Amino acid sequence: MRRTHRLALPRRAQSYLDGRAQATAGQPNVERAWKTARQTKALATVVETLQAMTGPRQRCMYCVDSHGSDIEHFWPKGPYPGRAFLWPNMLLCCTECGRFKGDRFPLSSAGDPMLVNPSAENPWEHLDFDPDTGNLTARYDAASGAPSPKGYATVQLLRLDRREGMAEGYRRAYRRIEAFVNAALSEAVIDPDQLAQQLLLADEHGLLHWCFGPVGANLRPFAALRNKAPAAWAACAAAVQ
Ligand SMILES: [Zn+2]
Repeated sequence: MRRTHRLALPRRAQSYLDGRAQATAGQPNVERAWKTARQTKALATVVETLQAMTGPRQRCMYCVDSHGSDIEHFWPKGPYPGRAFLWPNMLLCCTECGRFKGDRFPLSSAGDPMLVNPSAENPWEHLDFDPDTGNLTARYDAASGAPSPKGYATVQLLRLDRREGMAEGYRRAYRRIEAFVNAALSEAVIDPDQLAQQLLLADEHGLLHWCFGPVGANLRPFAALRNKAPAAWAACAAAVQ
């Protein structure tokens, strides 16, 4: 998963959403209103803006492996119709993630979402990556001595630890990143900016945050890079933030 930064909607699309939110306020079911709205130019602009947030490959914001094909309501619009037309509640998602999630939306005892919101927080605070299997798992939380509950709920809901195609995509991306770092390590002099650029281009799955985070930093070849060329390691770590 990758932290996604939300862009502002063009004014016309935003005021269309505001109008729809007002018109449907208090309605227990907005499915029809949503279906009608979905055909409009304003919603096409919403999709374009979400695509711009995901980068040139327009990947799903949850798995970051498949193509993001539709608007996803983070708080599902079935049980939470009042959030259907709120821009901060919209993400771009693939059909598979959309199917796994459906109307499921676990909440903590305090009423907070247990699903990671990639547009509102850094997913790697809750998730971990296994380079051998390519699976995403819940990050071990040292403070509580247990896996992150939010990470666990997210992995379970989206089945991030048992999707073969997705895992293969992550493994391939990791190998590309590893190969660039290994190639840099074989050079007499490492150009920090060039390496950072290569890695950013190779990172189709948001993995660099993990590679240059607390877990990846202790693994070969990232630990070797930090050892041999601390400035290059620091430049890459800064570039992925
Ligand atoms: Zn997906």
